[in-house]
Amino acid sequence: MSDLAIDHISKSFGATDVLHRIDLTIDRGDFLVLVGPSGCGKSTLLSIVAGLEQPTSGRILIGGNDVTTAEPKERDIAMVFQSYALYPSMTVERNIGFSLEMAGVAKDKRKARVREVAELLKIEQLLPRRPSQLSGGQRQRVAMGRALVREPEVFLFDEPLSNLDAKLRVDMRVEIKRLHQRLGTTIVYVTHDQIEAMTMATKIAVMKDGFVQQFGAPKDVYDRPANVFVATFMGSPPMNILPAEIVEARGGLAVRFEKDEIAVPAHIDLDAVHAGQKTFLGLRPEAVHLGQLPSGSLAWTFDHTVDVIEPTGPSTLALMEFGEDEFIASLPGDADIVAGESYTFAADLSKALLFDRETGNRIAHRPGTEAPAPTLSVVGAKG
Ligand code: ADP
Ligand code: MG
Repeated sequence: MSDLAIDHISKSFGATDVLHRIDLTIDRGDFLVLVGPSGCGKSTLLSIVAGLEQPTSGRILIGGNDVTTAEPKERDIAMVFQSYALYPSMTVERNIGFSLEMAGVAKDKRKARVREVAELLKIEQLLPRRPSQLSGGQRQRVAMGRALVREPEVFLFDEPLSNLDAKLRVDMRVEIKRLHQRLGTTIVYVTHDQIEAMTMATKIAVMKDGFVQQFGAPKDVYDRPANVFVATFMGSPPMNILPAEIVEARGGLAVRFEKDEIAVPAHIDLDAVHAGQKTFLGLRPEAVHLGQLPSGSLAWTFDHTVDVIEPTGPSTLALMEFGEDEFIASLPGDADIVAGESYTFAADLSKALLFDRETGNRIAHRPGTEAPAPTLSVVGAKG
């Protein structure tokens, strides 16, 4: 049985349609991340799950119960927001235990439960303090403690790490993930940060303009994005997107782009392409290597001047100008290159994706090919 079902949810504020027929179902223990640019409707959807907003149409089911019209407190949920408003005059201990106090839980029981949660979050020593005596990260932990203490069916997080500095964000990201692994709770987590989505989620829903663009496991979303939006939104640096066209070639179809022509990669469904079709070729920066690939692998090899080099430490990004488009190769950190020079690059075409230029949708892979399969050899490069 699904733990949370978001069933055909739409939401309008007056004449503004903010959510369009959202369908998402997750199981107990799933970590669902709603990710997308600011304003795409993530918080509105989370608020509808929480019961803080009413949908215009559609239903919410938690643990199999239709809670669409239920009050927030009648739903088995707890929520952690970006601005974690703690009660300033109360100690950390009382802040965490406050919901139990309101529910009339006896003092001894309450104390024990708060201590348990504090141990889990490693904040036992903070229990006597007040919020003003805490750092941002510690306050965030207390806010999480407040949610954890209630043992709800589903935890809801709305950009809980946005106010933290970069280092702390990464630390807390790992801690939330560790907590999830230990407790096995069901989580819905909103973020605009695609790295948080990739690293934490068991399921990702990528949203844009109130529509779910794709719903799936992180690896599927990354390897087989539904469309150009998802392909370029998920991944940093983003996927390279080159205008291309399907053309007739000796004995079959080929992809023409830049000054080159390659055979349609073998993992692409040939029934889904036709000569004359305008497409985009998608290549992840990490699929572009310096020098040649081992013979036998299908590569697109090209020489190009590097405009800008961005050493990030573990990798070195080589930025190139392809006409109007920017093209990025993600090379090893010790790659020995300088800006302004030309180098030979090889893009691994077994990982290439094709998108229809009209619809933006990814062109299907051959039925049965779960992952992009190794492909054939280059047809008349430099044609
Ligand atoms: P996100 O969390 O993805 O940044 P939101 O869910 O906050 O996006 O907002 C989605 C859209 O709905 C935005 O265009 C926002 O301006 C609009 N919106 C949100 N809440 C209201 C409201 N109470 N009244 C009118 N418009 C709203
Ligand atoms: Mg928001």
